[in-house]
Amino acid sequence: MAEAALLSLRGIPSVDQILRHPQTATLIERYGRAETTDAVRETLSSLRASLRGGEKAFPDEAGVLASVLALLAMRSRSTLQPLFNLTGTVLHTNLGRAILAKEAVEAAMAAMRQTVSIEFDLETGKRGERDDHLRGLICDLTGAEDATVVNNNAAAVLLVLNTLAEGKDAIVSRGELIEIGGAFRMPEIMARAGTRLVEIGTTNRTHAKDYIAALRPETGLVLKVHTSNYRIEGFTSEVSARELSEIARAHRVPLVNDLGSGTLIDLSRYGLSKEPTVRDAVAEGADLVTFSGDKLLGGPQAGFIVGRKDLIAVINRNPMKRALRVDKIRLAACEATLKLYRDPDRLAERLPTLRFLARPIEDIEAQANRLATVVERALGDSVRVNVVSCRSQIGSGALPLETIPSAGLALSPCGGGKVLDALSRAFRRLPRPVIGRVSDDALIFDFRCLSNEPGFVENLAFLDFKAPP
Ligand SMILES: *Cc1c(COP(=O)(O)O)cnc(C)c1O
Repeated sequence: MAEAALLSLRGIPSVDQILRHPQTATLIERYGRAETTDAVRETLSSLRASLRGGEKAFPDEAGVLASVLALLAMRSRSTLQPLFNLTGTVLHTNLGRAILAKEAVEAAMAAMRQTVSIEFDLETGKRGERDDHLRGLICDLTGAEDATVVNNNAAAVLLVLNTLAEGKDAIVSRGELIEIGGAFRMPEIMARAGTRLVEIGTTNRTHAKDYIAALRPETGLVLKVHTSNYRIEGFTSEVSARELSEIARAHRVPLVNDLGSGTLIDLSRYGLSKEPTVRDAVAEGADLVTFSGDKLLGGPQAGFIVGRKDLIAVINRNPMKRALRVDKIRLAACEATLKLYRDPDRLAERLPTLRFLARPIEDIEAQANRLATVVERALGDSVRVNVVSCRSQIGSGALPLETIPSAGLALSPCGGGKVLDALSRAFRRLPRPVIGRVSDDALIFDFRCLSNEPGFVENLAFLDFKAPP
């Protein structure tokens, strides 16, 4: 070891010395004594290691403290980071799906801060029911007789299958045995629910006679699944929900319709294609309908089961229901979200999911034009920035083939794939990460879901991207 390095090793402040430094008190107040001590120890030891590795100088106490602060700040940052979703997928499952309405956020906060009458009947002073808070609202909005809520739609499907068809057959068309993603495969869910899967028909064609031939005394239910994330085209045939409900009724077997996303309103009003509404599914004669809370509905993660009162009662007696129930926070957010649907005229203003989906293209184009120069300035000459038209998706399996005209920026760096990766990484490393999508050798930012434009611009000041020479 060099003479100079030995000398400076000797001059290094001790852990105690740094802990006694007046500025350390603020760190201790903010991060706690144990965390701070640990960070000081680690900082000093890594500085010592760099000295041994050939580093010439050791920082002074202020320098050490700055490193300690940086380490503490990094460790205390949540890994669940707020970000800008510029992927063009409005309901992105990996980015947390729906953003809640202000009303829902406030209701959830109120429920978090206080004790609430979640299962307490204020009239009688006796035990109340968790589902009472939503039942009336959901029944009004869907025309169903009764309703219950669980953790998510996967849980809703699992619970329905287990309640109505444990040890029995569940009849499903081969054209509807879907995988939703993230290990949610219909056949596997059925097996876990204790149900015998009876596949009928073929991938592209299933007829009424296929259902009729499969029905027997051991049949627990007939399941119809909305093939939400793909579509079979060409020589196809499926049995309509209405016809299926007549077949099921004649055999005294319940028909369950898993709508997946499900929507409570006619989306054609907002210029989108018509997705079957929950009300339609109920009116077509399904005995039970299941759908998600955080897809098109625009609320928190939840799964709704609506339909016949006698069947909902049996579901509520299943002990599994207890394991799949929702907490007061989400219940409050669900209630507030559903209440917004009572005023359809203002819904697109108040519900972010719908606001994003219905956003006028001229509005998005104007934003893209405004931001082009800002982004260009942040990047310098090595990246070409163009305003482009692009197409957004709803996401989470709703209207899979439908894309919505949108606008954004295409960032094309000189130098190919590696540089494009580096560019995407630089945007992901911003204080508030910006997530776009890569397509045709460019990083695409679709601005449909960008509502905090000033925040986006401020954030760019921290962009650290250097094009390779
Ligand atoms: C999304 C989806 C599910 C799962 O719903 P989660 O709310 O994500 O649990 C089940 N069935 C269908 C048809 C779906 O589209």
